[in-house]
Amino acid sequence: MARSTSAVVVGAGIAGASTALALRRQGLAVTLVDAWEPGHAAAASGGEHRILRASHGTDELYARWSRDARVGWLQLAEQTGQELFVQCGAVMLAREGHTSWEDASRQTLTRLGIPHFVAPASELPARLPVLDSHGITYGLWEPEAGFVYARRATVATTEQFLHEGGVLRRGRVITDSREHPQLDGRPLEADVVVMACGAWMGGLFPRSVRRLVEVVRQNVIMIEPPAGETAYDHGSFPCWIDHGNNAYGIPAAGGYGFKAVLVWKQLSIDLDEEDRIVDATSIARTRRYISQRFPGLADRPISGMAVGQIANTIDTHFLIDRHPEHDRVILVAGDSGHLFKHGPVVGDYVAGLALRRYETDPRFRLGARGTIDPASRPQ
Ligand SMILES: Cc1cc2nc3c(=O)[nH]c(=O)nc-3n(C[C@H](O)[C@H](O)[C@H](O)COP(=O)(O)OP(=O)(O)OC[C@H]3O[C@@H](n4cnc5c(N)ncnc54)[C@H](O)[C@@H]3O)c2cc1C
Repeated sequence: MARSTSAVVVGAGIAGASTALALRRQGLAVTLVDAWEPGHAAAASGGEHRILRASHGTDELYARWSRDARVGWLQLAEQTGQELFVQCGAVMLAREGHTSWEDASRQTLTRLGIPHFVAPASELPARLPVLDSHGITYGLWEPEAGFVYARRATVATTEQFLHEGGVLRRGRVITDSREHPQLDGRPLEADVVVMACGAWMGGLFPRSVRRLVEVVRQNVIMIEPPAGETAYDHGSFPCWIDHGNNAYGIPAAGGYGFKAVLVWKQLSIDLDEEDRIVDATSIARTRRYISQRFPGLADRPISGMAVGQIANTIDTHFLIDRHPEHDRVILVAGDSGHLFKHGPVVGDYVAGLALRRYETDPRFRLGARGTIDPASRPQ
C-alpha cells in the first residue's frame, strides 16, 4: 500500500488539533479545517479548563492515557512557553453507601502504580476546611492530577501545528447522502481524512454516528470567592468530583473563580442556533448545591457562566474508527465528557490508526455498539 503523504483534519477542537499535529509530525502535509476559530466558545474545547485525573473505575486504558497525556501537556507547555497544566490534585468524593466507582478506581490506580491516597471522612475537615463533607465516606486523592487550561491548550496545539508547517483554513464541511465529506462543493481530497467535529458529528454522519450519541448540555457556574480568601484557590483546593451529587468542579484559577457543574437533568442543546445562557432553574439548583457543599460560597456572586455540550455514548467509550464505507475517512466522536484531558494521546492514537499502524481498540468501534434509546434523549 502506498505511503500516505497528505491529510485533511476537520475540526480544530482538541481532538482534531492534536491529530493534525501528530500527523504533521509523521511528515504528512496536513490541512486543519474548522468552521470557526480554534477554541471558539461553542466548541467543547473552548471552555476555560478541564480536569485531568486518572481515576476511571475499572478501566485501565483511560487511566494510562491520562498519565501519558499529562506528560504530553507538560511537553507542549515547554514547547510553547505557556502554562497549560496545573497540578493542583483531584479528589473523588466517595458517597456513603455508593463507593463502588471510587473503590474500583482505587484498585486500578494501585495496580498501575499511579500516585494516590485515601483521606477518610475524619480527615477531610482538616484537609479541606471549606468543604462540608456531610455524607462522604472518603476522598480518593490523586496528588498529580489537576486541570488543563482548555481554550489556551487548544489554541497552543493549533499554533504549534502551524509552527511545524501545518495549514489552517476556515470552512464548513458538509457530507453528501453517502456521508462523504465535502468542502466548497468538492469531496475532500487527501490520503487521510479525519473528521473530529465533536458534538456536530451526529449531524454530519446521520447513518454512522447519530444513533450512537446523545448530545447533552452542560451548565457551568463560576463563583467569586470572598475577597482576600485563598482557601478556594488552586494552591489550596484540588479539582473535585462529587459523584453522588452528579457534580464536579475546579478551584479558582486564571481569574475564572470557583467552578461548579451540577448535572441535575439531561438537558438538550441546539448547537448552532441557541443563545449560550444558563437557565434560571439550573442556576438555582447549582447555587443550592454549592451552598450545601461549600457554605462559605453560599452568598457569593456568580462571576461567570458558560454553556457547553458533551456527546455521550451508551458506555462512555469514545468512537474512533474508520467510516464503514469510506476507508480513508476516520471518525472521532462520542467524547462522553472526558476526552479533553487525553488530547495529546488521542492525537497520536488517531494518527496511528489513520496511518494503518493498528486496528482500532474494540471499545472504540462503531459497529457492535449500543444505540441510544430515543426515549432517553435529553429534553
Ligand atoms: C462543561 C464541560 C466540562 C468538561 N469537563 C471535562 C473534564 O473535566 N475533563 C475532560 O477530559 N473533559 C471534559 N469535558 C469534555 C471535553 O471538553 C471534550 O471531550 C473535548 O473538548 C471534545 O473535543 P473535540 O475536539 O472532540 O470537540 P470540540 O472541541 O467541540 O471541537 C469540534 C470542532 O469541530 C468544528 N466543527 C464542527 N462542525 C464542523 C463542520 N461542519 N465543518 C468544520 N468544522 C466543524 C467545531 O467548530 C469545533 O471547533 C467537558 C466538557 C464540557 C462541555
